[in-house]
Amino acid sequence: MNMYDSDRMADILATDGYSRTHEAENADLVILNTCHIREKAAEKVYSELGRLRKIDGPTVAVAGCVAQAEGEEVMRRSPNVDLVVGPQTYHRLPELLRNLNHSKNLIDIDFPVETKFNKLPPPDNIGVSAFLTIQEGCDKFCAFCVVPYTRGAEYSRPIEEIICEAEFLVEAGAKEIILLGQNVNAYHGCSGGLAELIRILDSVNGLDRIRYTTSHPNDMSDALIAAHAEVLSLMPYLHLPVQSGSNRILERMNRRHTKKDYENIIRRLRAARPDLALSSDFIVGHPGETEEDFEETMSLIERVNFAQAYSFKYSARPGTPAAKLTDQVPEAVKIERLSRLQELLGLQQLEYNKNFVGKYINVLLDRIGRKKGQLAGRTPYNQAVHVKIPDSLNQNDFLGKTVPVYVEAARPSSLAACIVEEKSSERG
Ligand code: SAH
Ligand code: SF4
Repeated sequence: MNMYDSDRMADILATDGYSRTHEAENADLVILNTCHIREKAAEKVYSELGRLRKIDGPTVAVAGCVAQAEGEEVMRRSPNVDLVVGPQTYHRLPELLRNLNHSKNLIDIDFPVETKFNKLPPPDNIGVSAFLTIQEGCDKFCAFCVVPYTRGAEYSRPIEEIICEAEFLVEAGAKEIILLGQNVNAYHGCSGGLAELIRILDSVNGLDRIRYTTSHPNDMSDALIAAHAEVLSLMPYLHLPVQSGSNRILERMNRRHTKKDYENIIRRLRAARPDLALSSDFIVGHPGETEEDFEETMSLIERVNFAQAYSFKYSARPGTPAAKLTDQVPEAVKIERLSRLQELLGLQQLEYNKNFVGKYINVLLDRIGRKKGQLAGRTPYNQAVHVKIPDSLNQNDFLGKTVPVYVEAARPSSLAACIVEEKSSERG
């Protein structure tokens, strides 16, 4: 979502004559769009600000969730910051920057009643795969999480606005749209929720692939599960965070679901779409997590079998209920558990990817690869694929297309593949 927001900031600033540059040294303005979800992400902001202090000239703005959560603290710790702007007010950037000349050090971390979305110009800089925020904020208040405080209450964009933006993206060349939200499946901009939106987007001409992220297990409606069975452009991949496999910890996390609830949803999803690739988020070392609780997470992973996953050490966040709990888990224990968990998840991912070796799979080639003669893209199952293009073929003919590729090798987080040149078949 921060990537989407950064693009939108660039879009609105373009209306005031700004354009993008990749070098801070030559920039008139540097915006750090920040994340507050874990301490490590938040601390990165200050080290980056320290680096920026060494270059002379640019106006420095801090945007995003660190700006929202820390406000004046950002300016106190880093006097080189000129402007602090939260995730719900960045549509005001041009105006804020113009006002900077008059009063130094502006802070705008409101949660305004007006939404930023209809104040923003149409997106620019659109790729083959495009993000589209449809829902923001969260009312769930998991005990460990800052999102409800930094992003504010749940808000769903009106469906007409989303369809209009989706059509615009497709018109500009997007073949895949990734619908974004902190709780994307809590989307309620139309009576039929996310499932209805997906079915409408499925009929947008030229849109080949639809994905959505991030979902909460409690908002996995019957209609959404059915959409996975019936809507062909909805890709067979789902990121559904469970966080822990221990009911005791899930309760302390205020997740409002049990491990059984989660596994039941997975069972129903797999019944609807047997080849669905599953991904999740895990937190290890939440306050109160014992070795037994952790083992329950490990056995849940073994039972479900994930194609992909993200895992984190619990990080105490200021202002959240879990940070106040007294039974915090020692850092060394968290490190040890995370490495065991990641080893298991890494093995599952590699095993999953190995199933594809020696077979053809459709890949949407969405970018130039890192190496010469290579394009990169994703399978329907969201695996990253590096694809060799033979010298005899023109790379540009493939960029933005979905093509069958031959998978040569599997790694834990990607596949290596090539395009096999069609032999002219003489059948007589
Ligand atoms: N809305 C999504 C997740 C948003 S945050 C959901 O409910 O699943 C993305 C992920 O960051 C979370 O799934 C969680 O695994 C992780 N996370 C959030 N707060 C954290 C914390 N305090 N410490 C460690 N990881 C955290
Ligand atoms: Fe955070 Fe997700 Fe829980 Fe909301 S549902 S509080 S975003 S982890």
